[in-house]
Amino acid sequence: MKCQASAMPLRPNTTKTNVLLLGVTGGIASGKTTVANLFADLGAAIIDFDIIARQVVEPGTPCFGEIIEFFGQGIVDIDGHLDRKMLSGIVFEDKEKRKKLEGILHPRIFDIFISRTNEITKNDPDAIIQAVIPLLFEAGLQHLVHKTLVVYVPREKQIERLIKRDKITGDQAAKILKAQLPIDEKAGMADFVINNENALDETKGQVEELWQKLKQIQAIP
Ligand code: ATP
Repeated sequence: MKCQASAMPLRPNTTKTNVLLLGVTGGIASGKTTVANLFADLGAAIIDFDIIARQVVEPGTPCFGEIIEFFGQGIVDIDGHLDRKMLSGIVFEDKEKRKKLEGILHPRIFDIFISRTNEITKNDPDAIIQAVIPLLFEAGLQHLVHKTLVVYVPREKQIERLIKRDKITGDQAAKILKAQLPIDEKAGMADFVINNENALDETKGQVEELWQKLKQIQAIP
């Protein structure tokens, strides 16, 4: 079975509900997961595209088979899993191969996103659902959600947290950042921005404020 769908899917159909889909994005290590968890504490659901992207390439899945067919057995590690780091390295250097990989992964990821949204909506037609999508703007996926939120930290702080968390050098961190849209640019494209530069309590205050705003948006008929 092929895992590719024929067309780019649109946003999940939430028209007969009061569901609000919030696309949560930012730069690497800017605090997307941290902020999404703070919203979850207030009652929001989370659909994390990074987690889905890992699930769809587990051994035995249709996407796993298609990736090996195209990239070869060398892309499988000794445990039989996809070597995601090697694959990232290959597509980082080769635009055509990146497009091929996206063509395999994206339709399956979107299918899962739609089915999870439908599942959550069935249980709670007033849900606020966070779609955590690291490369939302780079991939032009704004159409999948109603509103977008950028979790912002200044570039220097982003590099500092990335080095600390992933135990990498400053040069490696700078190279990773270079492959993404600058975070200031993303902030300018978003409906909402949360500044996660300071202590977590300060971020929490902004999350609570935005939560009230989202509830007000939902209340508008
Ligand atoms: P990724 O891009 O890798 O998915 P992310 O954007 O989800 O990362 P987090 O994992 O939430 O970012 O945060 C990155 C790191 O920064 C983590 O180690 C986290 O504990 C830390 N961090 C997040 N927010 C703050 C904060 N306000 N103060 C101090 N450290 C923070």
